[in-house]
Amino acid sequence: MITLAIESSCDESAIAVFKEGEGIIGEWVHTQIALHQVYGGVVPGLAAREHLTNFGPLLQGALRECPEMRQANRVAVTYGPGLAPCLALGIGMAKAISIAWEIPVLGVNHLRGHAFSPFLPIYQQDPKKFKQVFESLLPHLGLIVSGGNTLLFKINTDSSINLLAQTVDDAAGEALDKGAKLLGMPYPGGPLVEQQALKGNKKAYRFPRAFPDASDMKFSFSGLKTSLRYKLESMNQDEIKNSMADICACYQDAVIGQLLTKTKQGLNQETFKSLGISGGVSNNKELRNTFLKLAESHDIPLCLAEPKHTGDNASMVAFAAHIDPAGLNHTGLNLSFAPSLPLA
Ligand code: ADP
Ligand code: MG
Repeated sequence: MITLAIESSCDESAIAVFKEGEGIIGEWVHTQIALHQVYGGVVPGLAAREHLTNFGPLLQGALRECPEMRQANRVAVTYGPGLAPCLALGIGMAKAISIAWEIPVLGVNHLRGHAFSPFLPIYQQDPKKFKQVFESLLPHLGLIVSGGNTLLFKINTDSSINLLAQTVDDAAGEALDKGAKLLGMPYPGGPLVEQQALKGNKKAYRFPRAFPDASDMKFSFSGLKTSLRYKLESMNQDEIKNSMADICACYQDAVIGQLLTKTKQGLNQETFKSLGISGGVSNNKELRNTFLKLAESHDIPLCLAEPKHTGDNASMVAFAAHIDPAGLNHTGLNLSFAPSLPLA
């Protein structure tokens, strides 16, 4: 079984090919970050036009590099959540391929792609042993941390998913990006905050952490951003400049601290056989180290997506089509976009 996958939910046009028994045999991404940077965030109309301009050449190049793609038995495409005009372009292209190649088209939930992405490296390592290893890692506690989502969830032993907590306002990545913007950094600021934080003292300031109680299984990051704004308003430009590394270290620590607290509370509620983090923010080394220690303290493995599969990518979409049949949309040529599609 060969699955051709397409991802276009936000600002990345991506294509990947997954071959059962082998794993990902090809992947291609065209990212638009530079285009949106001048606007300080993703502009939906511009993003859609970029997908329209780039998908054709991207697919053509992919076909040249990976002729085996022609043998695809199905085409999987992200149908939500995401920006409606962007999703529409990916779905349109998937349907055209479906008709031309006479293969079925399947809708994939982008969030479920992120949810299962930490298991892809395990598949790639040994496809034959994968099923057995995967089953030994369930139930799994997962955390998706991206620019648009902060979701704590459980993958049950039957691979079904239950949502345990989500953010009531900003996502973790959004909090990092908005904080970075207040500090004068370009979009997306998360990685820049990380770089500054490396040189800073995370004890220099204390930013608020929402919902410390275990009874509140939810995240909130908007208060943190506001408290940074008040802090910066109380400082002059020189003070801000001289304390940049400390501010970043403390701000990042507050984001990670809240993620850690809620995940710990999740781990204490029941027995999990593995822990996972995915989504763009899971690239953050401090977050990875913090969660590695947490997993070790519970004597369970930490499953991590490869850095190239933490942001938007089509490999996780192809893999979800393989590993998560229950999460697929089978409406075929009637498939439409679902901009607010929930994880479960
Ligand atoms: P979305 O598709 O929801 O926008 P992505 O999964 O593409 O999210 O991830 C993008 C987010 O990840 C941005 O908010 C970005 O700042 C954040 N991010 C990427 N790398 C890092 C990093 N090293 N540290 C912190 N945040 C990061
Ligand atoms: Mg993105």
